[in-house]
Amino acid sequence: MQGKAVFLDRDGTIIKDKVYLRNPEGVEILPGAGEAIGMLNSLGLPVIVVTNQSGIARGYLSEERLGMIHERLEYLLREDGARLDAIYYCPHHPEGIIPEYKRDCTCRKPSPGMLEMAAKSFSLKLAECYMVGDKDIDMETIHRVGGKGILLGYNKNLESGVAVEYVARDLKDAVRWIIKDLTS
Ligand SMILES: [Mg+2]
Repeated sequence: MQGKAVFLDRDGTIIKDKVYLRNPEGVEILPGAGEAIGMLNSLGLPVIVVTNQSGIARGYLSEERLGMIHERLEYLLREDGARLDAIYYCPHHPEGIIPEYKRDCTCRKPSPGMLEMAAKSFSLKLAECYMVGDKDIDMETIHRVGGKGILLGYNKNLESGVAVEYVARDLKDAVRWIIKDLTS
């Protein structure tokens, strides 16, 4: 498993997508997501969240508040026996209203900046990594570094013609596919 990791989008992948979630109480783990992450933990594969949080640049929530949301997320996952190795987030947006976050950056997905940061910390070979997400940009992000993309949700997104290695019903289905792919 050396050099490999699974990147996970946050909203619509691990938790319910509430569109600019601002409160820790609003964190709702999707069915089976904790168990799925636990399966990756057992394999010793780093599980790394990469999430665009332009709500920070837009002035909807502070980085401190986001930290509380992520503490809640990790608490709820622990109850399911699961753990995240890291959470990377991009607080920027070119049209933000908070000056320190208003910019074109290299971390906002589909740019692979967050993956590259993780690669340094975890000594990853990104071309051997996976990304699970519910949007085209998640697939584009991992494809830019040569890894494999698993898109959540039948019947959606695919109309755009986005390339994916697998379309999964949910995170558990995605993880089962990854485990099969790792051992084939
Ligand atoms: Mg998402």
